Order: sequence, then C-alpha cells, then structure tokens
Amino acid sequence: MKNKKQALVIFSGGQDSTTCLFWAKARYEEVIALSFDYGQRHKKELECAGSIAEEYKVEHHILDLSLLNELAPNSLTRSDIQVDQEAPESGTPNSFVDGRNMVFLTYAAIFAKQRGITDLVTGVSQSDFSGYPDCRDIFIKSLNTTLNLAMDYEFDIHTPLMWIDKKETWALADELGVLEVIRDKTLTCYNGIMGEGCGNCPACKLRKKGYDRYMLEK
Ligand code: ZN
Repeated sequence: MKNKKQALVIFSGGQDSTTCLFWAKARYEEVIALSFDYGQRHKKELECAGSIAEEYKVEHHILDLSLLNELAPNSLTRSDIQVDQEAPESGTPNSFVDGRNMVFLTYAAIFAKQRGITDLVTGVSQSDFSGYPDCRDIFIKSLNTTLNLAMDYEFDIHTPLMWIDKKETWALADELGVLEVIRDKTLTCYNGIMGEGCGNCPACKLRKKGYDRYMLEK
C-alpha cells in the first residue's frame, strides 16, 4: 500500500536504477528522480533517463558532477581507457569510480532535505558484486548514519536490489509490470547501446545472463 511520502531515486537510466524507479513508484505518492552528469562517455545514458522520466511523468533533475571525472579518471568516462572485461584479482575494476556512490548519495541527501524528503532509493547491489566497495550494504548503512549525523535529519536509504542478483532483478521488473520497459528503454551497456546493448561488455554479459536465466525459469 502506498503511503503519503515522497522518495528521491538516484537514477542513471540503466536497468537497476530504472527498476528502482518503478519500485518506488509502486510505494510512494510522489517520486523524484535525480541523475548525475559526471562526464559519462555516453550521454545517451542521461537521455535514456530523461525520456523514461518524461514518459512516466516523474520529476527529473540532472546535477553536474563533472568534477568527479577530473579527480578520478576511469573507463566509464574516458574513451582512451579500455573497460576491464573481468574484475582483477585484487583491487577494483577500472570501471570503478572512487567515491561515486558516496558523492551521489551525499548530493541526493542534500537535495532531498531541501524538499523535506527523507527516503532515498539507490540500485546498488552486493550480490553481483564486482569488487565495488561502495555497493556493499555495510557502506550504505554507514553512510546513512553519517548523513543523519551530518545534517541532523532522519534519512532512510532504500536498496531494493541489495540482496538480489540480475535474474531476480528481472523478476522484480516483471512483478512491477515493467519488464519490457526495462528491457527496451534502459541503457546498461558500457558501449552506449540501448536495450540489448553490444552483448560483449561486462555489463551486457551480466544483464543478458540474468535475463536468459529468468526467461528460462519463468
Ligand atoms: Zn555492452
């Protein structure tokens, strides 16, 4: 059942955050989407986010965080850095952007508080863990506490995908009645191809593997 509250969703236009957007729409009276421009190689990601928000009548804001790319160049923002195909033996893959989720959530929290919103939603997941330390549940809980202390406010960070894998994320999209929307209108591919994507990059492989497994068992 819906409550009266509003939620702010961190929204990139990819599979995970779009699923979270619809998860929030099913639970909150009003959902606001916040995207970040941090110099992604593919502006198409932000375009996807924009058109989904427009189609589903979600208020959408884009914040400029291009400074992040200057501070931490990585394969998602720089075309001269090839995306790691697999997680390295140690350390983080070069698609990892130091501090990204912390910065995103911090700006989202500042934005939310101005509007009297306490609930933040983010699509991070520990299950398909590819070595991103800021996708871990312990990090989210820690940051939630920090943000509450920093702003003397009761934020509630929701992570609907934290303990589910890609197959279950497709199942959730289906349950929410938006499987086709997620499949056709989101962009997850590191090579900037909407929907099915290039099929070869790590993001496409993970997405397709989950989709095929879900369709097989459905
Ligand atoms: Zn791809």
